Amino acid sequence: MVLLDRSTLMVVFAVMTLTMLVLFYFDTYRKSRAPFAGWWCGAVASFFLAAVFYFMGEVQEVAWSPSVGNGVMVLGSGCVWAGTRSLAGRQIRPGLLAIPATAAVAVDAAVHYSDNARIGSIVLLALMGTAIGLASVELWRERAESWHLVRSLAIATAVSAVYYLSRMAGLALLGPADPLFQVLFGTGVTLLMAMVLLVVVSSSITSLNYARRTENLQELAYRDGLTGLLNRGEFMHQAQRRLRANLASGIGSAVVMADLDRFKAINDRFGHDAGDDVIRAFAEACRSAVREGDLVGRYGGEEFALLLDGVDAEEGVRVADRINAALAEHSSLPEGVNAPTASFGVVDARDRTAGLPRLLREADRALYDAKAAGRSRAAISFTSAGNQTS
Ligand code: GH3
Ligand code: MG
Ligand code: MG
Repeated sequence: MVLLDRSTLMVVFAVMTLTMLVLFYFDTYRKSRAPFAGWWCGAVASFFLAAVFYFMGEVQEVAWSPSVGNGVMVLGSGCVWAGTRSLAGRQIRPGLLAIPATAAVAVDAAVHYSDNARIGSIVLLALMGTAIGLASVELWRERAESWHLVRSLAIATAVSAVYYLSRMAGLALLGPADPLFQVLFGTGVTLLMAMVLLVVVSSSITSLNYARRTENLQELAYRDGLTGLLNRGEFMHQAQRRLRANLASGIGSAVVMADLDRFKAINDRFGHDAGDDVIRAFAEACRSAVREGDLVGRYGGEEFALLLDGVDAEEGVRVADRINAALAEHSSLPEGVNAPTASFGVVDARDRTAGLPRLLREADRALYDAKAAGRSRAAISFTSAGNQTS
């Protein structure tokens, strides 16, 4: 086995972190600008700088260099923790990270030439182990998405945290010259551990970033940009599946078409932006009036389609009334102007084998009846059961 001296290992570590930083910055961070990727750049940059400082201390014997190296290592570990917090949208003040980093520099500088020089390293390892341990705790708490990627990050950081804290205990109990300490926690092993952590975290973050972007793109493809409701294609896709499932399990459902009343007049009188606001208010009203699993889609300009689970026609009409009541509340039209309203056509889909397009056509006909009867109301489609299979 080739044994490399400390300064050679430092160079290897520095070259590796710098390569990783450049690759990660251009390949992942620049493309996403995601906060967690930014924090990871900060962490890798810190580890690179720390390697440079240690190298200067080793080869050039610059007295202050190893102490500053310790501070930068702690700063890097803090960046790892901050990055994992930002995954869940939790913020951390960057100034906060300077406190343990400064403490690590101060302690190491104070004891560096004393008989207790190892206290500097013990403090360094305690702070690093704690920061990376906290990062692992953050990752275990993260449940939302891309579960397996987050879990592999949690394991990698937990292993590192345990290693750093064990190294700290070994240093305190055995001392740096002890052969067992050298075998378990020598410079070579420690740097090897750090490299494994760097590779695992970098590749996991790159994959996580990719997974998030794919999710965002899917979201964009399925949702309507103005309202955030399902777009027409996705509504049709999901509603068709849901109708079939409800039919198979004997659950009733109601199909509803909705159209805003005299919407052209709102556009003409208050402008297109005010019209868009009313469309958004309608979407908001739907969200507050329907249940969690119900489907709401923007079918056309100011037309919407809904699929309500476990609801019959009469209940469908009540939901429509609730939407109109909520629409009046959410609308931002000037005071004194009549609140916007919508008309609805409701089809009871219980035991109906007709496909969704046909049910929507029936709902649309009932919607026309609601308009003809004076608007701001819901009408039920009374298509005879005999027509149901056509
Ligand atoms: P009715 O009560 O009979 O439905 O009358 P209406 O004025 O609402 O008539 P209609 O449904 O035909 O009007 C649709 C209008 O909606 C025409 C179009 O300019 C407007 N519109 C469609 N999409 C949008 C949009 O995204 N934003 C805005 N502001 N207006 C839109
Ligand atoms: Mg219309
Ligand atoms: Mg209309």
